[in-house]
Amino acid sequence: MPFDDIAGQERPKAVLRRTIEKGRVPHAFLFHGIRGIGKFETALVFAAALNCGSPGGDACGSCPSCVKMKAGNHPDVLVFRPDGAFIRLAAIRELQHQIQFRPYEGKRKVFLLDEADRMNEPAANALLKTLEEPLSGNVLILVSSRPYRLPRTVFSRCQPLRFDPLPEERIALFLEKTHSVGPEEARIVAASSGGSLERALEALREDHRSERKAVVERIASCMEKKDPLDLFALPALFGETRPEVSGILQEIEGWCRDMLVFKEQGPAALLTCPDLAGWTARASRLLTGEDILNAVAAVRRARESIEQNANRQLTLESMLFKLVTL
Ligand SMILES: [Zn+2]
Repeated sequence: MPFDDIAGQERPKAVLRRTIEKGRVPHAFLFHGIRGIGKFETALVFAAALNCGSPGGDACGSCPSCVKMKAGNHPDVLVFRPDGAFIRLAAIRELQHQIQFRPYEGKRKVFLLDEADRMNEPAANALLKTLEEPLSGNVLILVSSRPYRLPRTVFSRCQPLRFDPLPEERIALFLEKTHSVGPEEARIVAASSGGSLERALEALREDHRSERKAVVERIASCMEKKDPLDLFALPALFGETRPEVSGILQEIEGWCRDMLVFKEQGPAALLTCPDLAGWTARASRLLTGEDILNAVAAVRRARESIEQNANRQLTLESMLFKLVTL
């Protein structure tokens, strides 16, 4: 969990490391920058580094303090988030209560206010009092992607630390490595993300959801009509690269499993693809339990073949033919 685990953000990470090394940690920070670029994650690493038992301005990841940080139960690191739309007065009162006590076991108490710009007015006024009369040994970190919404009085009492959007290449690489996205798709999604990893992941989910829905709906409709001729246009919908095809096949396998669950439990079933519930219900009425198990096996075999570099068109056509002629 050292600073190096955070993608990019070299400048803010260097600033934070330096404050620890020099032993001059401000009592209040404001981490700001667009959403989805690692502000809150960096705040957690900073909190860990402040309390780490090993020397140096970083978190070792293995001392008792770091282990508690990883488990999310360090008694001296408290996180406050909006309750509904706002961070309310009660939360700031709790912060003010906790801030009076010395650290239980760490070196410093750290208070993280995520989405600090969502403090309502009474909460912001109360926090201002704490900022005006800081108690030594405590660190407050306000995290915000809309710092302009914070009262000027609050803003001016924190040391601002700007986080920059992430480079597109870094986001593209991340999507390729951890989400099996093909290089071309990764490049396009990264380019439209504005440097926000969170936004890139949202775009990816949206994309995949609509792709999946389109493919599954076409397959379901072919299964209803029992018409294999309709199938020949379908492989084009699966995308071009191996990770794309494999991703959609995984979704289809999930949908087939949904059919099985629906068959056993009816409309009350908890489905993995609830947006396809209508098709799931219709298709599961057409098929026996054994048919569906055969469908799951056919889709899984196709995915394994694609991952082993089998011919994409032939593999998909043969799988689709099996699904329609169950
Ligand atoms: Zn440590």
